[in-house]
Amino acid sequence: MKIICIGRNYVAHAEELGNETPQEPVIFMKPDSAIFRQRDAFYIPDWTNEVHYEAEIVVKINRLGKNIEERFATKYFSQFTLGIDFTARDIQKKLKDKGLPWEKAKAFDQSAVLGEFLDVKDYSLDNLKFELKKNGQIVQSGNTKSMIFSIPQIIGHCSEFFTLKIGDLIYTGTPEGVGPVNEGDELQGFIEGKKVLHVKIR
Ligand code: ZN
Repeated sequence: MKIICIGRNYVAHAEELGNETPQEPVIFMKPDSAIFRQRDAFYIPDWTNEVHYEAEIVVKINRLGKNIEERFATKYFSQFTLGIDFTARDIQKKLKDKGLPWEKAKAFDQSAVLGEFLDVKDYSLDNLKFELKKNGQIVQSGNTKSMIFSIPQIIGHCSEFFTLKIGDLIYTGTPEGVGPVNEGDELQGFIEGKKVLHVKIR
């Protein structure tokens, strides 16, 4: 099982990190060991001083697929949720400055948080509101209609390079409002007002 993540998929988020708006999806991956289990607390690793939350809609692939046409892409997943792509921003900045790969900053243990999965058939995925609250205050508020690359476009593009397999996860990018977490913080994630995610930071 693999975790594919899309970077810079919302204009305002690309701008807040000083990045250009991409011409094609920016892709990176996390290993399956990055998956965070909801019953645990998230422990800030001791090698970073700046872990950021990035709330993202995540789809779970349910069919084997290669070179998937955009118009058929919605047949390749039936469940989705809100996730957090935890990012060690200080480490990522150092690596980016040197032109090096991001894995240490993005693919570490517990960095891929998943909420409760919902059925696609009950929602409209091209116009889906989601929110992240930190200690009760809204810090990120997004809608999938603001994505630069839609979920079908992402699935089509990714499957040109990587065969998609049952159980693979795709993190579809974060809207603006990313920021740090500190010990004692609590994050709560909502899709269309429904709470699907709760993480305590230690
Ligand atoms: Zn992200």
